[in-house]
Amino acid sequence: MAHTENTARDERRARGLGDRLLDRFFSTAHVLETERIAARMIRIRLGGEALRALSFRPGQQVRIATGDQAADGLFARVGDLRTYSVWHFDQEAGQLHLCVLDHGDGPGARWGRAAEVGDQVRFRGPEGSFTLRPDAPYHLFAGEETASVAFGPMLREIPGDVAVYGAIETSTAADRLPLPRAAELAQPLRGDASAAGSAILLDAVRALELPSAPGVAYLAGEARTIQQIAKHLVQERHWPRKAILTKPFWTPGKRGME
Ligand SMILES: Cc1cc2nc3c(=O)[nH]c(=O)nc-3n(C[C@H](O)[C@H](O)[C@H](O)COP(=O)(O)OP(=O)(O)OC[C@H]3O[C@@H](n4cnc5c(N)ncnc54)[C@H](O)[C@@H]3O)c2cc1C
Repeated sequence: MAHTENTARDERRARGLGDRLLDRFFSTAHVLETERIAARMIRIRLGGEALRALSFRPGQQVRIATGDQAADGLFARVGDLRTYSVWHFDQEAGQLHLCVLDHGDGPGARWGRAAEVGDQVRFRGPEGSFTLRPDAPYHLFAGEETASVAFGPMLREIPGDVAVYGAIETSTAADRLPLPRAAELAQPLRGDASAAGSAILLDAVRALELPSAPGVAYLAGEARTIQQIAKHLVQERHWPRKAILTKPFWTPGKRGME
């Protein structure tokens, strides 16, 4: 017992004022595993005691301190914050999984590529209101690679007797995440075309045979594509705007959307 108390005191002393201040703003976890879950998608499994005290609703996200592009002073240790949807959450085990798209360059992509087992990770959340509406008569999902991360736990939560529709666009088939109920979703490929303002995803949504009455739509991923699809649902299918949930994740030229 005395030994445990001493160890805890030593640890507190070893953690400086800066760490203790950061602990007020961020939860801490450690990287337990990394895996290329799809060609350009890195799954990062985080674990830690702090996670057992947190709650999660499918569709929510965490804010990760990438430790990259650091500002001065205390926040040099935090770096730029980037937002990642939770792919899987296990409160009992104190673990959560993220999927980071290796899209090219940026603090988030660099953090995802460099993550190694044992790394400490500071984060905020889970948080956000882009979550499943359980009373929906049916659910419609549309988005690209990054959106499919948020859609995974949402799809997992929907009872088997509730209809699901959707179009999930990826660059190649190898970029697809293993989504629940994938057989019920259109999965268009855009090849080398840009995911921004994607006509391919819009056309795939347009081609869906939906019930005549609206359900609830979840549109996430690239901002301009989301706008186009929302416009299609409102103007061509006459859905009320309140039946459409949108969450822009990124857009060309803009850094860190939240
Ligand atoms: C609520 C929410 C949930 C999100 N969930 C996820 C998630 O689960 N997985 C995930 O990978 N990202 C997710 N994102 C996006 C993520 O937060 C970062 O914006 C993204 O990873 C890019 O960060 P970065 O630092 O690498 O690049 P940034 O410095 O933010 O961006 C640099 C440039 O890279 C380009 N770019 C950024 N993202 C992409 C992309 N996906 N494809 C092509 N070009 C891109 C743009 O031109 C951008 O201007 C989410 C964002 C939000 C707001």
